[in-house]
Amino acid sequence: CGIVGYVGDKKSLEVLVGGLRRLEYRGYDSAGVAVIDDDGHLGTAKKSGKLVKLTDELAASPIADGRAGIGHTRWATHGGPTDVNAHPHLGDDGKLALIHNGIIENFSELKNELLAEGYSFDSETDTEVAAVLLGREYRATGDLRAAFRNVVSRLDGAFTLLALHRDEPNLVVGARRNSPLVIGLGDGENFLGSDVAAFVQYTRTAMAVGQDQIVAITPDSVVVTDFAGAPVEVETFEVEWDA
Ligand code: GLU
Repeated sequence: CGIVGYVGDKKSLEVLVGGLRRLEYRGYDSAGVAVIDDDGHLGTAKKSGKLVKLTDELAASPIADGRAGIGHTRWATHGGPTDVNAHPHLGDDGKLALIHNGIIENFSELKNELLAEGYSFDSETDTEVAAVLLGREYRATGDLRAAFRNVVSRLDGAFTLLALHRDEPNLVVGARRNSPLVIGLGDGENFLGSDVAAFVQYTRTAMAVGQDQIVAITPDSVVVTDFAGAPVEVETFEVEWDA
């Protein structure tokens, strides 16, 4: 439902939780985050219920905090609003995390393919199929951008997806089809959001990711391509916002 992503020098958790708070108006039933710290550890936390349940959990059991992170508020469509079904979902033996808005229409076909190869699933969501598939493709390619292109090319339906992998700690990748994704441009840091509310506190300079496009952000680069990896030009705009 609500999506935020960050890479840069700030502590990611504060940016993510703040962004999710500003997206709360959309409604949601669960919330979660995944963060990579400076030592390349991936930490995740997710809870059903209000955002305060997640922040209580983070206070009770602190996780890695650092340079890159993704955060999600979920409005359940596939699988009930439980802690296990909340996002992020993991792949590559817990080395990568993925969040998703929308519905992956062909998830059962993909799930059967992965089950037949011996992969297993923790949740009832359509989303976890994309996370496990990304893990398989990461092992095949050793490259998050290439693996992510392979995944989005297999998915039908509506999706905004963000993902990160602990072995590429300065990178967050995103993609969209029939669901929105915007980029916030910073100085030595960059942001992603399902809408500009996710990052408007930090930057007013934004770019909209187009239909069937992928974005890769690092602290000092933003690259937008189509699903085949060909670069596309995207114009920046200034966000008008009365705080
Ligand atoms: N279909 C996904 C799920 O049920 C994502 C729902 C959403 O957009 O929050 O977990």
